[in-house]
Amino acid sequence: MTPGSPDILAAARMLADDVLFPDAMRVDGLDAVPAAHLDALAAEGLYGASVPQQAGGLGLDLRTTCAVTEELASGCLATAFVWLQHRGLTMTLAAESTPAALRDQWLGLACQGKVRGGIALTGLIPGPPLLRAQPAEGGWRVDGEAPWVTGWGLIDLLLVVARGPGDSVVSLILDAAAQPGLTVTRQRLAAVNASVTVQLDFDGVVVPRERLASQEPFDPAASLRPDRLRINGSLGLGVAGRCGRMLGPGPLDDELAACRAQLDSALGADVAAMAQARAAASELAVRSAAALAVRDGSKSIMADQQPPRLAREALFLLVFGSRPPIKSALLQRLGAMAVLSAATGTSGAAQHPSSVIAGSPFGGGGSPFGGGGASGSW
Ligand SMILES: Cc1cc2nc3c(=O)[nH]c(=O)nc-3n(C[C@H](O)[C@H](O)[C@H](O)COP(=O)(O)OP(=O)(O)OC[C@H]3O[C@@H](n4cnc5c(N)ncnc54)[C@H](O)[C@@H]3O)c2cc1C
Repeated sequence: MTPGSPDILAAARMLADDVLFPDAMRVDGLDAVPAAHLDALAAEGLYGASVPQQAGGLGLDLRTTCAVTEELASGCLATAFVWLQHRGLTMTLAAESTPAALRDQWLGLACQGKVRGGIALTGLIPGPPLLRAQPAEGGWRVDGEAPWVTGWGLIDLLLVVARGPGDSVVSLILDAAAQPGLTVTRQRLAAVNASVTVQLDFDGVVVPRERLASQEPFDPAASLRPDRLRINGSLGLGVAGRCGRMLGPGPLDDELAACRAQLDSALGADVAAMAQARAAASELAVRSAAALAVRDGSKSIMADQQPPRLAREALFLLVFGSRPPIKSALLQRLGAMAVLSAATGTSGAAQHPSSVIAGSPFGGGGSPFGGGGASGSW
């Protein structure tokens, strides 16, 4: 257990219940998450959640950071989502391999939330590069597109990961602001629209040489590491948890605990186990939101009610932060494995092992949500 973690979890829950959730319906209709919400997270030190204490952060371990993320997501997914992207910037700044000058300039301010960050990890996507960085006069020239970048207008810096020369990935720290060669196009979202997610098109954007954080060999497997996939699962737990609390005590509480345990135990396992755990968390969020809607009846279809907001957020979490094995596991759980098989040309003969949620009334092979084992078909 991280020293001080009970306190930080209590603080995160208080923020979620007293600040974020009471405002979540309003934020759902806004063009941007209110800065005051991000300030409230910063005031609790959460902008430096995962940064070691000696570097100015809270020094939370991954499990505690995940628990904090779950709490915040239960309050307001849009706010939690914007906040979570900042972690990519702070972890990069805190890395030993990052030049000290970058760390000295920004890490302290980033931990305090005075400088806020987002990420464009486009260069990590396998296949032909969508985003490229080449050495150029004065620094690095970036070309291509980053189709999904969250927090634009709410962030100061953007960690851009692009493909570099010699099958490398180059990490650059860009000012998150208008500049020559950069086109910003807003993505209109059916959920978490206040996250201000945009597409960025780069046409010869020059990033100064001193903004290079790292250049490393491109390793497509790195993005599938369980420790990298774990945290987004907490967004699903947060949405499911909020639905469960609105429903009142019941069997979904046990499923939530089982999903959380499954995600945590997959940290010590392989990508297949983590993919199953992520799929289980996403599916639980969908099912919990559906149960809440059914419980509340017709008013659940009214635009100003919580059930449709939570259902839209659960839909978003079916696709956000996905990877092929997660998608495969989810389609299998949803009884639609053939859809993926047709799309990818993989064999549709994936097996349906027994449920990954022990004791779940939904876990049996007779349920459309049941059967969640590794297919090995991705
Ligand atoms: C609303 C929204 C906001 C988002 N915000 C951001 C953001 O701020 N920064 C950001 O970098 N991404 C962001 N993403 C992208 C997200 O992380 C994933 O890329 C996306 O959810 C995967 O969608 P997809 O399955 O349609 O695959 P695509 O995006 O079409 O990607 C193609 C393939 O590459 C894989 N892939 C995608 N991203 C990565 C990666 N980083 N590493 C390895 N493989 C990958 C996918 O699993 C898929 O198989 C956002 C996505 C959405 C929907």
